[in-house]
Amino acid sequence: MAKIITVTTPQNKYDITIDANWIDSDKINEMIKGRKYLIVTDENVYSHYGNLLKQFDCVVLPVGEDTKSLKYFEKLIDMLQDKQFNRSSVIVAFGGGVIGDLTGYVAASYMRGIHFIQIPTTMLSMVDSSVGGKVAINHPSAKNLIGAFYQPEAVYIDTAFLNTLTLKTLSDGMAEVIKYGLGFDRDLFNTLEGFDLNCLLMKENQETLLDIVKICCQIKARVVGEDERDTSVRQLLNLGHTIGHAIEQYYQYKKYTHGQAIAIGMVIKSRIALCEGRLDQKSLERVEHLFKQYQLPLELDEPEVFKRILEAIHLDKKSTRTQIKWIRVDTIGSCQIEGLQYNDIIEKVENLK
Ligand code: NAD
Repeated sequence: MAKIITVTTPQNKYDITIDANWIDSDKINEMIKGRKYLIVTDENVYSHYGNLLKQFDCVVLPVGEDTKSLKYFEKLIDMLQDKQFNRSSVIVAFGGGVIGDLTGYVAASYMRGIHFIQIPTTMLSMVDSSVGGKVAINHPSAKNLIGAFYQPEAVYIDTAFLNTLTLKTLSDGMAEVIKYGLGFDRDLFNTLEGFDLNCLLMKENQETLLDIVKICCQIKARVVGEDERDTSVRQLLNLGHTIGHAIEQYYQYKKYTHGQAIAIGMVIKSRIALCEGRLDQKSLERVEHLFKQYQLPLELDEPEVFKRILEAIHLDKKSTRTQIKWIRVDTIGSCQIEGLQYNDIIEKVENLK
């Protein structure tokens, strides 16, 4: 039985449908509903799902973050214009977060907004980027600089697509899943402890995997429903991200994946919670062990550069001139927003030594 979660925002209301082994050509035709359409994907995804996609009008873009660019934005807009898309047409993102963010931004921009469907194919995109309407492309000066809040008309998740991911990409997405457990849902955290990266996708664990994806989407839907525009509670979803973004930027997005970087961020937050008396030693050990189970790092290879990395937090887009929105871990399953000065953060981190 498919699991359905409804996202309700001021902009619109839509369903996330989650099941395993259910998206085939008939289902895609049902989603398109006879409208003029274009499916956007990347070369990697096409190499696995070409048999399904070749029956459809499909554009296959290069793999990787560079595709979230003005160049491919323009290319897609040109294609829609050539095909005479209008406001009743639909564009479908079939891929990971790169394809979802780019396609969503094209959908938001073309004729001031056309229909848009998300079919996420990575763990990160299933539990995070496909839900909530943040769509964006990168500018040479910064990631996600050009973007919008633009909700899809529906999100269709088939967990069978996860079977073709590399373990590294799966692990990367699991960092976001652990974030929901650590920051929002103790039961989810407990469930994740019962599995690891290698056994999560096994057939006998299919129902649990569906539940895990469902719980993450429920949390995201609830938070986005309360704060679509990211001015209050939605910022909780940035748990581990202030440090994570700083790590990614410092290494120019080459050394650590997003998931690895935020894992290190969440471990630091958990260690600070121990230092400040909110988390006990046993719970901290559970947190660290969980990241290891999903093959995520606990700390930097070069801990000595951490101070320089922290300086990059000044540049993080979530920091205002005086305050940084710092998401602190309280206990397993709970986090909250603290407004901190940069020096407070340095002090907290130095107290860890
Ligand atoms: P991605 O889209 O680059 O996908 C990762 C890799 O997996 C790519 O090589 C892709 O080709 C491959 N892939 C995708 N699906 C596959 C499948 N089923 N089988 C085999 N290979 C497959 O990266 P991602 O991790 O999905 O997303 C990262 C992007 O998401 C970043 O650009 C980030 O900024 C964005 N993001 C957006 C939000 C949001 O709210 N909009 C949230 C988090 C991240």
